[in-house]
Amino acid sequence: CGIVGVLSKTNSVPVLIDGLKKLEYRGYDSAGLAIQSNSDQSIQRARSVGRVVELDSTTKTLAARMGIAHTRWATHGVPSERNAHPHVSEGQGISVSVVHNGIIENHEDIRRALTAQGYVFQSDTDTEVIAHLCHKHLVQGLPLLAAVQATVKQLEGAFAIAVICNTARLNLVASKKGAPLLVGHGEGEFFLASDASALVAYTKLITYLEEGDVVQLETTGVSFYDEAGNTVERPIIESQLSA
Ligand code: GLU
Repeated sequence: CGIVGVLSKTNSVPVLIDGLKKLEYRGYDSAGLAIQSNSDQSIQRARSVGRVVELDSTTKTLAARMGIAHTRWATHGVPSERNAHPHVSEGQGISVSVVHNGIIENHEDIRRALTAQGYVFQSDTDTEVIAHLCHKHLVQGLPLLAAVQATVKQLEGAFAIAVICNTARLNLVASKKGAPLLVGHGEGEFFLASDASALVAYTKLITYLEEGDVVQLETTGVSFYDEAGNTVERPIIESQLSA
């Protein structure tokens, strides 16, 4: 339902929580976030059923420069903590974390194939296949950007996704098709959201992703790729929304 991502100069957690609060009006049944440790890059996750304030109270002491967050409106799998996003895939030293808006139509086929390859599912969502596909491509040696590009090629349906992992420092990759996603440009820090209202308190400079785009956020800047994988320029517009 709602996505927020932050690559901060300081601490992403308060911005993630504030962003989720701004998206609450859209409705949701659970919320969660994942952050990358500043020290060892490990991924830490917190999830809760119910209001964003619950998540806020359990994440007050957390701090990390990069994180992703989500409010869920369940389509596949009941509202519960185990079905709340972010979803993770871990093994062979690689840990990847994913948030997703929308529906993956071919999730059953992908799930069957991944299960046969040894992946164990921990939720009833359509989303979890995305985490395991990314993990599989990372294990095969692809960098995060290429792993996400390979993953979205395998997905049918409507999605906006954001992905972080423990093997790509301060590197956030996202993509969209059939669901909105935009980037916010700050001063040496960058944001991601499904709705500009989550970001306008931090920046009014917004780039909307186009269908099939993949975007890479790094401390040095933001790079956009079209569905074919070509580097593309996307316009920065000034949001008229007030904070
Ligand atoms: N289909 C996913 C789920 O049920 C995402 C739903 C959403 O957009 O929040 O978990």
